[in-house]
Amino acid sequence: MGVFVSDHLGIYIHIPFCVQKCRYCDFTSYAGKNEEFKNRYIKALLKQINQAATGRSAASLPALEGRIVDSVFFGGGTPSLLSPDQLGLVMAELRTHFVFTEDCEITMEANPGTVTLEILRGYRELGINRLSFGVQSMEDEILKTLGRIHDSAEAVRSVKLARDAGFDNLNLDLMFGIPGQTSEQWTSTLQKITALSPEHISFYSLQVEEGTPIYNDIKFGTLEPLTDEEDRAMYHAGLEYLREQGYHQYEISNGAKPGKECRHNVKYWTLEDYAGFGVSAHGFVDGIRYCQGDDVTEYIETLERDESPVIWAHKNEPEDSASEFMFTGLRLVRGVDLTEFEERFGISFESMYKEILEELEEFRCQGFLVIEEGSTNGEGTAEGGCRRMYLTERGMDISNRIMALFV
Ligand code: SF4
Repeated sequence: MGVFVSDHLGIYIHIPFCVQKCRYCDFTSYAGKNEEFKNRYIKALLKQINQAATGRSAASLPALEGRIVDSVFFGGGTPSLLSPDQLGLVMAELRTHFVFTEDCEITMEANPGTVTLEILRGYRELGINRLSFGVQSMEDEILKTLGRIHDSAEAVRSVKLARDAGFDNLNLDLMFGIPGQTSEQWTSTLQKITALSPEHISFYSLQVEEGTPIYNDIKFGTLEPLTDEEDRAMYHAGLEYLREQGYHQYEISNGAKPGKECRHNVKYWTLEDYAGFGVSAHGFVDGIRYCQGDDVTEYIETLERDESPVIWAHKNEPEDSASEFMFTGLRLVRGVDLTEFEERFGISFESMYKEILEELEEFRCQGFLVIEEGSTNGEGTAEGGCRRMYLTERGMDISNRIMALFV
């Protein structure tokens, strides 16, 4: 099973509102914003989409009007705190400027406890065809440690409501390596999650970010972090269990049923174009990386003054794109196609990276990395005439060290 790669545009839209801040969260998200503020934010989003379509975004960014779009992703934050009417305005603006493919994947992140059947039906009517629920754990005690607003029963209920509303493509986000979490609890979460038969499962190790309540709890000894060995054992046990249950791993932290890989996220790992709208969102279009700042009030006020919220844009040099191609591509289980690398950048991999070949060879000899001549895409399917580099399952444990060589 190959992973979908497309030259069409993806669109990411950041919705920065949450009911309350989770105890580990350092994303750009705000609790307690009222409807008036949310409506101002939506208006600002519409303006930014319009600016980007008509080429008024930032001097170096091309006009995107008329581009073919095959994925849209509403991320957050908690996009499901917006009503179908509010999201409908954004969808209408997008449809005004872009051409959606018939099978366009339109994902919305949602949190258990924030949805009703009626609201979910409303999202479905807008064309949203994939939901990603931030479940994280099916153990209530762990959910409390994380400061999530829902419990496990609410997660089950939300999934059922999504099915009733007609969603046949669901992702459930999970987290492991949480202070106090036992391997039994992790296994139990995996069992309860796979019993719900989502099409896609993401599983991330908790990242403890400085300044978050969970960071302070660890710092002051109220919570004891798991060891690296415990964290890695959970990762590998999770992978094995998911494989047994029919989820094939296609990226370090993502598994899916056949054909249900997330088209939008794959764009990030294969250097495809995507536009980013909203506070703190990033984009990559025609070789230009850009982003908005992470202050929501500033984002809104900038657009209310009819100015561009893009605070940074950088035209990639070929070597920037080559290194991104390598370090993002290595996140995929199938890895990177070194033949494609040469076609894309006009230079062989060996010539471009002669300084690090020795270190790569060491990783290869230690069984962290594979370079295969000719015949495999890393998932056992013949694909003649290419050379591939990919991380082994053990290599994924030290992926940061290997990827860092390309930065
Ligand atoms: S729901 Fe997500 S974005 Fe919102 S506070 Fe929790 S972790 Fe952060």
